[in-house]
Parts: sequence; structure tokens; C-alpha cells
Amino acid sequence: MTAQALWCKRIQAQANIELRCNTVVEEILGEQEVSAVRTLDVASGVRGELAIDAVFVYIGLAPNIAFLDGQLALDGQGRILADNRLRSSRRGVFAAGSIRTATSGQAVGAAGDGALAALAAHEFLRDGDWPA
Ligand SMILES: Cc1cc2nc3c(=O)[nH]c(=O)nc-3n(C[C@H](O)[C@H](O)[C@H](O)COP(=O)(O)OP(=O)(O)OC[C@H]3O[C@@H](n4cnc5c(N)ncnc54)[C@H](O)[C@@H]3O)c2cc1C
Repeated sequence: MTAQALWCKRIQAQANIELRCNTVVEEILGEQEVSAVRTLDVASGVRGELAIDAVFVYIGLAPNIAFLDGQLALDGQGRILADNRLRSSRRGVFAAGSIRTATSGQAVGAAGDGALAALAAHEFLRDGDWPA
């Protein structure tokens, strides 16, 4: 498990949660509604089926940066490097929200970034200042 240790311990302590590490969902099964998932144990290669009533799809954590085409400097996690005015490595380009380095990873932080980036863009258009 790669989550924060506190959350790992809490999950492991829940009697009504069954943990399946090394397991991925290959297919969601069901006609009108979900009835099961087809699973693959990536360590052993064994496939299985698990009857379930619902699926929570937890995706979207990888920053979508392909469109940048290498034009902005990134941090080690592939997020856009930006200073405290959200200025990127390229003059006139700002980075706000979960795409930028040191993101809070929360919607409220992304919303705040939007406001800060708008103010910083206004300052830039007014003064033309940009770090060397
Ligand atoms: C599974 C999951 C659960 C989460 N749960 C919570 C939670 O409980 N509470 C919380 O506060 N936060 C949560 N978050 C984090 C929250 O979703 C993000 O912090 C927030 O959505 C970031 O907002 P954003 O505007 O930076 O990016 P996004 O919301 O990702 O918006 C970026 C937008 O840009 C669009 N886009 C991408 N590429 C291009 C392109 N080339 N051209 C035009 N448009 C493009 C995308 O389609 C998208 O609409 C969760 C995130 C995930 C992935």
C-alpha cells in the first residue's frame, strides 16, 4: 500500500474491508448494472471474478502534460515548476491547480490557484515583470 501510514493502518483495522494488494480490475461486468469485476493478480498472473454492487473508479492522479511538448520545466513528479506567483519557466505562462508543482491536491487549493494566477497574470500584463 502506498497511502499515508495513518490511512493504511485505519483501512487494515476495518473488519468489513478486504484488501487485495497486487490486484487490478480488468473489466467491469454486468448488463443493466454492475454485478462483478474481473480481476488480475499481477504478482501471480491468476485471474478471478469478484461479485460486487458498485465500483468507485479512482483515476486521474497522473498530471496531463503531454500537450506541453517539453516546453516548460517540470519537477520530478512531472508537474510544472512554478514560483509563488505561479509563474512557470516560460515567460507569460502560469501554472495553476493540480498540474503545478507542490499542489495541495485539493479542489480548494486549485480554486485558490486560479485566483492567484489571475492576479499574477494581471500584474504581468501591467508591469511585464518576470523572473530571470
Ligand atoms: C480520484 C480523485 C479524487 C479526488 N478527491 C478529492 C476530494 O475528495 N476533495 C478534494 O478537494 N479534491 C479531490 N481531488 C483533487 C481535485 O480533483 C483536484 O485538486 C482538482 O480537480 C484540480 O483542479 P484543476 O482545475 O487543477 O484540474 P482538473 O480538475 O483536472 O481540470 C483540468 C481540466 O483541464 C482539461 N484539460 C486537460 N488537458 C487539456 C488540454 N490540452 N486542453 C484543454 N483542456 C485540457 C481537463 O479535461 C480538465 O477538465 C481528487 C482527485 C482525484 C483524481
